[in-house]
Formats: sequence, C-alpha cells, structure tokens
Amino acid sequence: MIQNSRTNTSLSAGLSPELLEHMRERFATIKDDVASACRRAGRDSSEVLVEAVSKTVDVEQVLAASQAGFIAFAENRPQELVRKLNLLDQEGISVPRFDMIGNLQTNKINAVLGRAALIHSISSLHLAQAVSKRSVTRSVVARVLIEVNISGEQSKSGFSTDELWASLDELLALDGIDIQGLMTMAPAHDAARARQTFSGLRELRDELRERSGRALDVLSCGMSDDYEIAIEEGSTLVRLGRIIFDQNYTDIH
Ligand SMILES: *Cc1c(COP(=O)(O)O)cnc(C)c1O
Repeated sequence: MIQNSRTNTSLSAGLSPELLEHMRERFATIKDDVASACRRAGRDSSEVLVEAVSKTVDVEQVLAASQAGFIAFAENRPQELVRKLNLLDQEGISVPRFDMIGNLQTNKINAVLGRAALIHSISSLHLAQAVSKRSVTRSVVARVLIEVNISGEQSKSGFSTDELWASLDELLALDGIDIQGLMTMAPAHDAARARQTFSGLRELRDELRERSGRALDVLSCGMSDDYEIAIEEGSTLVRLGRIIFDQNYTDIH
C-alpha cells in the first residue's frame, strides 16, 4: 500500500532545490524593489510588510517561500486558508501568519476566526456586524481592515467612500473587532489610475484618523503589477501572488 507514499510527514525534506532557489531569488529581488520604492518615497522598508498570496499554489510552495524568508501569507478562500493551516500544523511546522483577503461570506466567518491573523475584506456594515457578533460569542477580538472601493469600479467590492462615512460611527462602536486600517484593489493595467487609487486610500485614512482618533495604521494595497507604486503612495502591506509563485510572471507595467 505504498501508492500514496507522499505522506505529509516529509514535506520539508521533500522540497526541491530548484523551488527553494526560485523562492530565494524572488525574496531577494522583491526585498530590493521594496527598498528602492521606499527610498524614492522617503520611507523606511520596515514600514512595509510583503504578504505572499498563496491562493494558487499548494503548501509545499508556502513552505519553500517561508524558508526563503517570506513571513506572511494570504488566502482568498476560507476553506483553503484552513486547509493549509491544518496541513502545516500536522507537520508540526511553526505556522506563518495567514491573512484572509477575499470575499467572506457570513457562514464562513467562524472558520477563519482565530485562524486568520487579519481579515482584510470587511466589505460591508452587515459583514462587520456579523464578524463582531461571532467574535463576541467566542470571546475573541478579530483584527480587521475595512475594504474600500476607491476607484468606484462596478466589479470591485467594498464600501464606497460615502458609505464608509455614513457607517463610520456604527463600525467604530462594534465590539469584537479591532479595525487596524483600510484595504483596496486598484484598477488593473493602468498605472496612473492605480496611483490615484492608492493615494486616495491614504488620504481617506488620514481623514478618518482625524475624525475617529483611531490610528488606522495599516494600508493594504498593491499587488504584483503595481506594488512599487503602492509603496510610493503609502502602502504598509503589499499582497503579492504571481510575482512570487508564477515562474512565468513577467513584469508588464
Ligand atoms: C490574488 C490576489 C492578490 C495577488 O494578486 P497578484 O496580481 O497575483 O499579485 C492580491 N489581493 C487579492 C485580494 C487577491 O485576490
């Protein structure tokens, strides 16, 4: 009965040298590029967390990326986040940080509470209330970001700026959630609009900070194609998928 010989027990030992080498090269290159973007903006690299979006790859790649230096990961589906965390747990591997970045349905909240380090995708007052309620029931505090649709594209989820202002007092009053900042997605393939979106997010945060007295330090924005622009505009957390995990990724911007 050896046909399923790829058991979980030798996950680390089974990592290919080529995969590790790829991840080390990616880590070094991205680190340099983050440092350059920070320098251009007069910022310190320590202000920016690079999060590896592992939604399209399996746990071996997460492990390889982790060994190469990436310290934070993100998934866009609750089931997959929990599956990867469980696999790593079973291996006895000290689990790196995993964040939830995708659409979260209320019936999946319980699955990610206490497992996701940060939920980036609080996209409506209804969802915020649902997370709050479940967190209070379980006596936990969920660290969250408010997702804002800065660009106004129909296809994007999140609060519009107007909705956010209208809901602000209710959001801030919710128990069981700790709002750490804002998250947004920029329009694809348009560097100028991406930049406007990122600076719009930062300006909105500054206004919200003033009005609420909350720090709202985290600005989660920037992906493979636009993360250097995002850092120039104040991002503190970039979410990178393809540029880390896709061996055929080419920089098109
Ligand atoms: C997939 C995904 C990313 C990563 O996108 P890349 O272009 O692959 O870097 C970032 N944020 C969210 C919300 C995603 O779903």
